[in-house]
Amino acid sequence: MKVAIKTLGCKVNQCESDYLAALLKKENVALVDFDQEADCYIINSCAVTAMSEKKTRQWVSRALRKNQYSHVFLIGCYTRLPRQHIRLSHPRLHIIDAMDKNQAVLRQLRLAKAHSESSTIIPETKRARVWLKIEDGCDHFCRYCVVPHLRGSVRSEDPNRVIRQATLLENRGTQEIVLCGINLGMYGKETGKTHLIQLLEKLVKKTSVVRFRLSSIEPFLIDSEFLKRYFTLGHRVCPHFHIPLQSGCDQVLERMGRGYTTDMYHQLMTTIRQYDQRIAISTDIIVGFPGETDANFADTAQFFQDIGFSRAHIFIFSPRPFTPASQWEKSQGVPHFIKKERERILTEIIHQSQLKYYRSFIGKSLSVLVETQDNNRKVTGYSENYIPVKIESISPADYGHIIPVRIEEEHNNIIIFIRLGA
Ligand code: SF4
Repeated sequence: MKVAIKTLGCKVNQCESDYLAALLKKENVALVDFDQEADCYIINSCAVTAMSEKKTRQWVSRALRKNQYSHVFLIGCYTRLPRQHIRLSHPRLHIIDAMDKNQAVLRQLRLAKAHSESSTIIPETKRARVWLKIEDGCDHFCRYCVVPHLRGSVRSEDPNRVIRQATLLENRGTQEIVLCGINLGMYGKETGKTHLIQLLEKLVKKTSVVRFRLSSIEPFLIDSEFLKRYFTLGHRVCPHFHIPLQSGCDQVLERMGRGYTTDMYHQLMTTIRQYDQRIAISTDIIVGFPGETDANFADTAQFFQDIGFSRAHIFIFSPRPFTPASQWEKSQGVPHFIKKERERILTEIIHQSQLKYYRSFIGKSLSVLVETQDNNRKVTGYSENYIPVKIESISPADYGHIIPVRIEEEHNNIIIFIRLGA
């Protein structure tokens, strides 16, 4: 049997697909690319924005058109939306609305043997940087976010299982592991046992080469104890935090139900930078939240500029089912053209801020994980502080390895050319 998997949305989804691929491979299923002929197409969907829903529907149609005999399995967050939202139906389409989506797929494919979630199974991926899911679910219920409704409460992976998987990955040659989850900072909080920082300490102790990165951590889940211990782990953890801001206006933050103020966020940045002045801080931000006035947005733009992020994902607010903000959108929605203009303004700010951050490393040494090769035969990778770099001459043996480099110049405003031999 030939199976192709398409993943939409966040890195947690990608991890889950990589894990599903490993389970299928163990059952001797042939995995093929999505553009190839397959008996079964699996679409691991997303529903975090209206755009993700649209993309999910497009990929379902595409898969159904590929082969008139193939079956299409739709799994993931989109399938967990209310039925009236899922405007899809076809005799060859199987919508699997299940929290344990991978197991549900295996059951559908009658692959009974693979049902056990062995800790010896590691994600199946060709990528040099491996994402390891250690947590699922969220109980925070920010007032715009549908995710807790789709993914349920916080569930943490057993720390021994995570350590075993990381060790196996290291033995396989992986040099960077990104720990990810839906609300990663909540890791271990529901069990009251191993918390995120303790897990990181154990991982660093039980492995010897691999460097660890955190995918994203909410500002209200980072405390001084966490930071003190994080920075004692040295080069084995990346000098990079992704800390969602969402808004730089206290009134909007309050209405979003985020649980912090701009003062608290600012204080957190100051504390982090006291440990490492050059650390990368990236973020997520939403424009056009219902009721966001011009003055509110001006506060956000100013705060966004003042912090000086190294990267940012800017999202245009879209109403999601189950959420209070979707009701507010009806009476207090910000017109789309204003949302677009606010997105443009923040994009310009982050562009400048990113450039300033990248340029501050010209002439300095960094460690880059060598990942891919582009059409110009230049190798691309990311440094420990998540600067994308291109390397002009390199041996194929360096793929997947972390190598020292010196930043030579910044080019095209974003990409930085570098030379080996720092
Ligand atoms: S912390 Fe807020 S934004 Fe993040 S998943 Fe939970 S509810 Fe959604």
